[in-house]
Amino acid sequence: MAKKIITTTGGANIPNNQKSLTAGPRGPVLMQDYQLLEKLAHQNRERIPERVVHAKGWGAMGTFTVTHDITKYTRAKLFSEIGKQTPILSRFSTVAGEAGASDTERDVRGFSVKFYTEEGNWDMVGNNTPVFFVRDAYKFPDFIHTQKRHPKTNLRSNEAQWDFWSLVPESLHQVTILMSDRGLPTTPMHMNGYGSHTFAFWNNDGERFWVKFHFKTQQGHAHYTNTEAATITGQTREKYQEELFGAIEKGDFPKWTLKVQVMPEADAEKVPYNPFDVTRVWPHADYPLIEVGELELNENPENYFQYIENAAYSPSNIVAGIGFSPDKMLQARVFSYADAHRYRLGTHYEALPANAPKNATVQHYHKDGAMRFFQNDSGTPDAYYEPNSKDGPVEDPSVMEPPMKISGDVSRYEDQDEVGNYQQPGDLFRLFNDEQKERLFGNIAAAMEGVSQEVIDRQMVHFEKADPAYAAGVKRHLKATKNK
Ligand code: NDP
Repeated sequence: MAKKIITTTGGANIPNNQKSLTAGPRGPVLMQDYQLLEKLAHQNRERIPERVVHAKGWGAMGTFTVTHDITKYTRAKLFSEIGKQTPILSRFSTVAGEAGASDTERDVRGFSVKFYTEEGNWDMVGNNTPVFFVRDAYKFPDFIHTQKRHPKTNLRSNEAQWDFWSLVPESLHQVTILMSDRGLPTTPMHMNGYGSHTFAFWNNDGERFWVKFHFKTQQGHAHYTNTEAATITGQTREKYQEELFGAIEKGDFPKWTLKVQVMPEADAEKVPYNPFDVTRVWPHADYPLIEVGELELNENPENYFQYIENAAYSPSNIVAGIGFSPDKMLQARVFSYADAHRYRLGTHYEALPANAPKNATVQHYHKDGAMRFFQNDSGTPDAYYEPNSKDGPVEDPSVMEPPMKISGDVSRYEDQDEVGNYQQPGDLFRLFNDEQKERLFGNIAAAMEGVSQEVIDRQMVHFEKADPAYAAGVKRHLKATKNK
């Protein structure tokens, strides 16, 4: 069989890819050896800015299949009939570590799914935890600073982490999950995914429901202790990639069951808690899980960078039948995620193969810009503005979301809530068995290494308010660590 020929980026055959063009055998190199310059210039441009958060990731392609009818809640066509399948692209990640960080660090995991639906892409950009550390986006960049490197030492700082958490009691719920077994899953396959925020569903009759998404692992939960994870990191920093990629290559396809909690729109005013607060869950007893379908990952992309690094998930990608809620963090992420991708990948990031809809046509009037490598004028080049009488694409009022009633005065509201900050972390703590509680105490004591007494004392008050046994356990472990 004839060998494939290496070409320039312009498609011309290359005569030699090993030897520089030199004036005599001892050089120097000629400026006109353009392909050498091109090769070096390409190498300099192989990296794009890594994500500020969720830089290290693993992902795969797969399928979502509807198993139960939820058409009374949403008109989204991806849920229109039992058995319906939609291709998906999933990416999992750690939050704080850089792109080369070890996979097996204690951290929240990102859990994102892009559904390539016939009505456009729907991105579910969640985590493996049902809640988040802060409920207002004003706190988000500061929180992330505490997870990243100290500006002077260039080291991660336990002091900064606990200083912030102890001053922001709404973080206790997520801190408790992070320090529990579920803060260190063995693989992306052995964890749940959650939409975390409250979203909206709306149906063909124009009724709105509030909704929370839960992806329950069918592989079961599995976790490392800190000690086990340290051993793994000593052996490989790429454990998750090895496990996820390897399982899919073997045909051992991981699956999750998608379930939703659904709240009628009017209930939002009645429930005793703010249902749009991302630091809280909706108790299952109040809003039971309703089964919807199954997510399966079954294909490794041929090129990691093209499909996983270039994957751009943003909660701004919704389809008719799915909407936002007043959740303050969600509202901010709708802007922030798309903006991160504009910075990271460029203006036209949505046209990259990982992000372009597979089952819907793209027709818009955004023009030009860097890397405008696609055409979407639908064969009518005179229609490059709107409105026009040149047969250009027009709006579709049938996908208009029903109006949302808002009550209340415009203000900056107090977001500290004594009951809300402590009730659910306490409920979670009381759900743990004795061994789980011991590991929680131990993980917290380890994470508090080097932290000042003042900060520890302030944090202990929060543990105490969630459950006195929580504070007592941490205290005991801190003492044991000190006496070592
Ligand atoms: P339930 O007893 O009905 O639900 C408990 C939930 O906790 C289940 O979803 C379960 O997930 C999850 N869970 C079990 N063990 C752990 C663990 N070690 N770490 C983290 N999550 C765990 O109670 P409620 O709905 O009243 O919630 C009680 C507490 O459970 C909440 O305060 C919250 O912290 C936590 N929780 C609640 C969720 C919700 O949406 N209501 C979701 C996840 C956690 P699984 O079925 O996958 O094992």
